[in-house]
Amino acid sequence: MSDLFERSIVLATANPKKVTELRAIFAGIGLGVESLADLNTPTTEPDETGATFEQNATIKAVEYARQTGRLCLADDSGLAVDALGGAPGVISSHYCTDGVETGMTREERDAANNEKLLAELGDRAISERTARFVCVMVLASPDGNIHATTRGTFEGAIGPPGDVPRGTSGFGYDPLFLVAPELAQTSAELDAKTKNALSHRGEAARAMAETIAAMRGA
Ligand code: IMP
Repeated sequence: MSDLFERSIVLATANPKKVTELRAIFAGIGLGVESLADLNTPTTEPDETGATFEQNATIKAVEYARQTGRLCLADDSGLAVDALGGAPGVISSHYCTDGVETGMTREERDAANNEKLLAELGDRAISERTARFVCVMVLASPDGNIHATTRGTFEGAIGPPGDVPRGTSGFGYDPLFLVAPELAQTSAELDAKTKNALSHRGEAARAMAETIAAMRGA
C-alpha cells in the first residue's frame, strides 16, 4: 500500500457545500478529508473540457493531484433532464450562459440556471419532466495514476412552475428537483443526512469510501 493512502485525501472542489456533504459521508468510514482551501499549496483550476462527467472528473483529479502532490478525489456532477436530451449535463453549473464562464457568483448562476431550466421545460406535464442528478468521482495520485472511478444517480423530476422552487437546503437545482418516487418534496427540502442517503453524490461517495477502505486494508 502506498503512503499516499495513509494521509487524509484532498477533495478537489471549490464548492464548500460539496465539501460539507462529502466530509460527512467519509467521516462514516473514519477517513479524514481536506479541501483545496485547507492546503497551503496554491492551485489553479483546470479547464473542464470533457464531454462527459467521467472525463471532467478525471481531468480535475489528475491535475489537482499533480499540483498538490497529494491523493486527490474529484467529482463532476450535474443534472440530466430527459425531455432536454440530457441537458444541462456537463454544463450544469453554467447552463444560463450556455457553458461559458462569465464571472457570475455561484448564487447568481444558480438562480439564472433555475430560471432557464423552468423556461425550457415550459408547461410540459410532470411525466415529461423526469430528470436525474449524476455524480462521477475519480481518485488520482500525483503520478497520474487513476485508482478508482465511481458513479451515482439520483432520480426525480423538475417541478412545474408554481409548485417550485421550494426549500432552502442544498444548492444548485435542488429547489426545483422533486425526489422520486413520491415527487412530493424537493431535494432542497431534505435535511443534509437524508439528502446524503439518497443522492448521486452520496451513492458515488459511499462506493468510493468502500474502495478506499479496501485499498487501505490491502
Ligand atoms: P460541478 O461543480 O462541475 O460538478 O457542477 C455541478 C453543477 O451541477 C452544480 O453547479 C449544480 O448546478 C448541479 N448539481 C450537481 N449536484 C447537485 C445537487 O446535489 N443539487 C443541485 N444541483 C446540483
